[in-house]
Amino acid sequence: MSLYKNQTLKIYNSLSGEKEVFTPVHEGNVGMYVCGPTVYSNVHLGNVRTFMSFDVIFRYLLHLGYKTRYVRNITDVGHIVDDVDDGEDKIAKKARLEQLEPMEIVQKYTVDFHTILDKFNFLPPSIEPTATGHIIEQIEIVKQIIENGYGYEANGSVYFDVVKFNETHNYGQLSGRNIEDMLANTRDTDGQSDKKNSQDFALWKKAEVEHIMRWPSPWGIGFPGWHLECTAMSTKYLGEKFDLHGGGMDLKFPHHECEIAQNEACTGHSPVNYWMHANMLTLNGKKMSKSTGNNILPGEIFTGESEFLSKGFEPNVARFFMLQAHYRSVLDFSNDAILAAEKGFYRLMEGMELLVELEASSTSTLDILSWQKSCYDAMNDDFNTPILIAQLFEGIRFVNVLNDKRETVTKEDLELLKSTLTIFIYDVLGIKDEKASENNLEKLEGVIEMLIAMRNEARANKNWQLSDEIRDKLLVLGIQLKDGKDVTGFSISN
Ligand code: AMP
Ligand code: ZN
Repeated sequence: MSLYKNQTLKIYNSLSGEKEVFTPVHEGNVGMYVCGPTVYSNVHLGNVRTFMSFDVIFRYLLHLGYKTRYVRNITDVGHIVDDVDDGEDKIAKKARLEQLEPMEIVQKYTVDFHTILDKFNFLPPSIEPTATGHIIEQIEIVKQIIENGYGYEANGSVYFDVVKFNETHNYGQLSGRNIEDMLANTRDTDGQSDKKNSQDFALWKKAEVEHIMRWPSPWGIGFPGWHLECTAMSTKYLGEKFDLHGGGMDLKFPHHECEIAQNEACTGHSPVNYWMHANMLTLNGKKMSKSTGNNILPGEIFTGESEFLSKGFEPNVARFFMLQAHYRSVLDFSNDAILAAEKGFYRLMEGMELLVELEASSTSTLDILSWQKSCYDAMNDDFNTPILIAQLFEGIRFVNVLNDKRETVTKEDLELLKSTLTIFIYDVLGIKDEKASENNLEKLEGVIEMLIAMRNEARANKNWQLSDEIRDKLLVLGIQLKDGKDVTGFSISN
């Protein structure tokens, strides 16, 4: 039986401002959409934190046995500098500065994003769609919004009529903003803009002649507005109503507010049951940001080459550091804080090494079952990783007292302690089991040595066909044999 049937998962819904019991649209299935990166520069540690929060959420949903479809997009067009409508596309701007094609920028930083997330042991999402791959779907949504009376064309661009929408819907429901205040606080259109109201946002923008990223549409040559892609891709892959939508806190307004408006204007109802927002990572008390330069790149954490760091830290330590805070709390990065996390992390890992050697007794003096429940309770309470980590340290305390023979457990309880620690540390928190990787490498090397010995025997018997076959097949696998004068060595490429 699936685990979720015995667990009550509660999720803080940013829309209601309350923790709610999670009930998916389709029993046993979860659809989750998370706004992905705009690939115009190297991913910074703040971005990593947000994506890590959702990686852990994805991992826990999978652990509970939900068939989860996790969609995380790549924004490769439409995100304008400073999030305004009249400006330069972030990717096009970078392409101009680096003298590259926009798609070269997209490729370069998408590869960087994947490499970094891989180092941090992220699970890949189920689908990773791109905005440029869904222009047709976006145009269809704009057409529908215009047909339903909430969009208007002006001079080759199409805008969303926020004031008209707010007459029958609630623009501001997610961010808690009020449209009258918003209109009062912004300069009204002074004839320079094609918008009816300053709060209207672009669904489709006319491309000026110099704009490289351009597509034909019913309104002329142009490109989609930033908010539109997420509506198009979430609807396409998860349906008009799906379970979870996440992103960083700073995306609540305008991005997610606009997504809700677009969906409601298109389908008549709100798209998402639970909105989730991850809080910011700060550096020296200020938000980490690509544009202000107040950031640390993950690569700098690994090497320690940063004015903010006294040394380098392995990805597992950085991951552990970030999960020690709840995803809805602000986390401040500092050298001291990550040093403290490193100590804790190694204490946890030492406990995991001792775990292997523990012996069972005929009776238990520890209540492992209720400890296991506390681990689930922590994650069921809006994915509370700091509380879970405190419980994992309690588990390590058990390991230590068992190792010192101060307490005893039965075989079943020992198995439960082992499996619970392993599941929560490696599968749910996503800590990479370096020991397992080392062991696997040792095994691989052993197998290669065995094949080399077999090949040597074949050569001694003048069975050239077999010896060549062994060499060639290993090469296809990225393992190159190097015949020396007396011995054969090898190299393994990634
Ligand atoms: P971007 O590539 O700028 O669109 O950002 C990708 C994701 O990272 C979004 O969900 C942002 O909300 C999130 N993000 C940006 N800055 C930070 C930060 N300092 N801390 C945590 N998340 C951030
Ligand atoms: Zn989005």
